[in-house]
Amino acid sequence: MHNAAFEAMGLDYCYIPLEVEPGRIRSAVEALRALRFRGFNVTIPHKRRIMALMDRLTPEARLIGAVNTVESRHGRWTGHNTDGRGFLRAFTDETGESVAGKCVMILGAGGAARAVAFQSALEGGTVMIANRSSTRADDLVRDLRRPPVGCPASALPWTEASLAEGARQADIIINATSVGMRPDDPALLPPHVFKPRHIVCDLIYKPSVTLLLKQAQAAGAKTINGLGMLVHQGALAFEIWTGRRPPIGVMREVLRHEIFG
Ligand code: NDP
Repeated sequence: MHNAAFEAMGLDYCYIPLEVEPGRIRSAVEALRALRFRGFNVTIPHKRRIMALMDRLTPEARLIGAVNTVESRHGRWTGHNTDGRGFLRAFTDETGESVAGKCVMILGAGGAARAVAFQSALEGGTVMIANRSSTRADDLVRDLRRPPVGCPASALPWTEASLAEGARQADIIINATSVGMRPDDPALLPPHVFKPRHIVCDLIYKPSVTLLLKQAQAAGAKTINGLGMLVHQGALAFEIWTGRRPPIGVMREVLRHEIFG
């Protein structure tokens, strides 16, 4: 999607995939500095470890505890995280709504959940976290409640009754777990909890309609999948590297073609 956007805008940049073994991340970053790369993205399993190799971290990356985009300025690396803002741009773009003043229930407490939770809290949403491992949910809630965010966040036990009660209170329900990627994955929530007033988001983009989104659509709720977040986190990285806004439609079409053929 980046190369398609560079080409559409006539920019002389090139985006290439580089596979780096976990033990070689330090030498890979030094090599990119020596080769005077303008920047790069970081993905699993390097998103946390790369933080120690940055000269500077943005407040967002520090809060989320992970870096997905790196920018070079005068030979110094800045670590950013565009996942949370990418999600919110997609959310506003596709629903026409804002999370301000809304109750947001997030399923999951991994990297993606942390990014979406912090951004939703910073935008004025009230956040509830439910995660299979309760200690991870509790850690995220503690971090959300602390300054500078100070969100009145709460953790929900990972039980059917508690998740149903959370859904009853929520305006927005977001799946940030990996459950739903495989065809035989179980339902995360009982179908009766979904109401037409809900906006239900799944960060998964393949399949494009997960079981969660099917259940929500059947109840008349508005739904969005993870493709918009994928496009917008990339578009934000593009803006950081080039200072220009990319053609979102071009990026989305290329991704759709790459993912679904
Ligand atoms: P992590 O590995 O950091 O977190 C995985 C989360 O899924 C944890 O909360 C984990 O719970 C939960 N989980 C995994 N298996 C189960 C299960 N069987 N039952 C209940 N919960 C489970 O991954 P990420 O946060 O990076 O990614 C999460 C999802 O978000 C993935 O589907 C990924 O594809 C998607 N994503 C989408 C993006 C986009 O741009 N659209 C960007 C980034 C991620 P526990 O803590 O208990 O293990």
